[in-house]
Amino acid sequence: MRFTLEKKLVLIFLLVVLLLSGAIGTVLTNAYRSELMDVRFKELSPCIDDVKYLISVGLLEYPNSNAMKSGMATLLENYNAVLLLLKPNGEILHEVTADGIMTDVGTKSDLDAGALEILSSGSQYTRSEYYDNATQTRMIALAAPVVSSATNDVICIIYLKSDMKKIDESYARIMSKLWLPVLSSVIIGIVLVSFLTFRVTMPLKEISTASREIAKGNFDNTIDIRSNDEIGDLAKSYNIMAKELAKSEKMKREFIANVTHELRSPITSINGFVQGMLDGTIAQEEYSHYLNIVSAETRRLNKLIQEMLDLSRIESGMFPLNNVPFDLNELIRRVILKFSQTLEEKHIDLEVNLPDEKTMVLADPDRIEQVLQNLFDNAVKFTPQGRHIGIYTETGADTVQVSVQDEGQGIDELDLPYIWDRFYTVDKARTSSKNGTGLGLPIVKKILEQHGQNIKVTSQPGQGSVFVFTLALYKNVKRETGI
Ligand code: ADP
Repeated sequence: MRFTLEKKLVLIFLLVVLLLSGAIGTVLTNAYRSELMDVRFKELSPCIDDVKYLISVGLLEYPNSNAMKSGMATLLENYNAVLLLLKPNGEILHEVTADGIMTDVGTKSDLDAGALEILSSGSQYTRSEYYDNATQTRMIALAAPVVSSATNDVICIIYLKSDMKKIDESYARIMSKLWLPVLSSVIIGIVLVSFLTFRVTMPLKEISTASREIAKGNFDNTIDIRSNDEIGDLAKSYNIMAKELAKSEKMKREFIANVTHELRSPITSINGFVQGMLDGTIAQEEYSHYLNIVSAETRRLNKLIQEMLDLSRIESGMFPLNNVPFDLNELIRRVILKFSQTLEEKHIDLEVNLPDEKTMVLADPDRIEQVLQNLFDNAVKFTPQGRHIGIYTETGADTVQVSVQDEGQGIDELDLPYIWDRFYTVDKARTSSKNGTGLGLPIVKKILEQHGQNIKVTSQPGQGSVFVFTLALYKNVKRETGI
């Protein structure tokens, strides 16, 4: 049998209720029983005084005189107890029968040595609930010594025994009134606990069903958040998780579709040209032209694969940063050098403004080189012949701001938010960005995020764009960490 949460909670509740009511019930009923016994002892107490009075007027001397007999009979009737007169050593002197006649029994009473000692010292002796062998019932007993005022000796002991009938009856009366409220509170408790567990388990069941749906690939299931408690929090977290999974699944699908598309077009064109050369459709004198295209497509394929690898490595954390202090100015100059031939070919005027002699930053130089290269590559690529490109640094308190500015075609406001997405290219036909993969800027953004920095872009279509990013200055890091 499966023990559901509901069953477990109800069982625990029942167990707790039983244990608690058992403990409280025992304490309370014991206290009540002892209270009832005290009341009975108080009831019996005047009987002792009455017997003492009868002794003082000659009970011991004339036990069976008519006056004494009727006096004792009245006492027995009033107090409903067994009345014994004992010798100081505990032997029974007289037992009073129902009509008040004293019978001389002459046997030992059931009072033990300890009780006799208390009595001989002049004190009263009480005995709470005990099993009386003579009457074979449960009894309580009260005994008091009668002391001679002349000699101060104990003359005799008045011994009263009462059965528990009155106490039991009053106890049973109370108990009969108790079970109804106890039972009803247990039933109400079970109903409440069941309701509460239902409220807890229902969303859990919903989450469990929805999780199975997710496992099947259905990410659209969300859970209604009804409560503002831990269960509500769990449902909220579940919904966030489902949304994120759906997003990542969508991204995965788009990524695969994009990759397939990006790989297919160069391969198709390479295949077409090679096939054309093999079957003679392309004349031999045109080979060099088409082989140049094949070579460019192969380079693009290579770049695409390399960038995809880089991006996935950065995202999966396989590209840990190797942060070291280095001179950013020197790195910028090195990157510019790589583009010198293209800049010359396109007659692009480059303005470099690095105000400080050295700009020491703490970052991974290889990754930052990639950032500069990708930004510079775009600037050169999208800037027409004879225009202007600029690269500037501006040192702040903690960071240095690097701007790469161009007078290229610019980016439309509608496209701006998407240029950081993988495979996003404004020019879908890739006429002006033939070598573009749409992965350059996502890599730039990821690298800067890895460094805890950010990049922003402003652009005017037809006028140009400015990409601005920051890097942590080395001197500040040095001051903070005390290196
Ligand atoms: P690509 O390899 O296509 O350049 P990127 O991720 O680097 O990929 O850039 C994505 C798109 O953003 C580019 O295709 C282009 O449309 C636009 N873009 C990026 N930089 C510039 C720029 N400096 N000027 C104009 N458009 C740009």
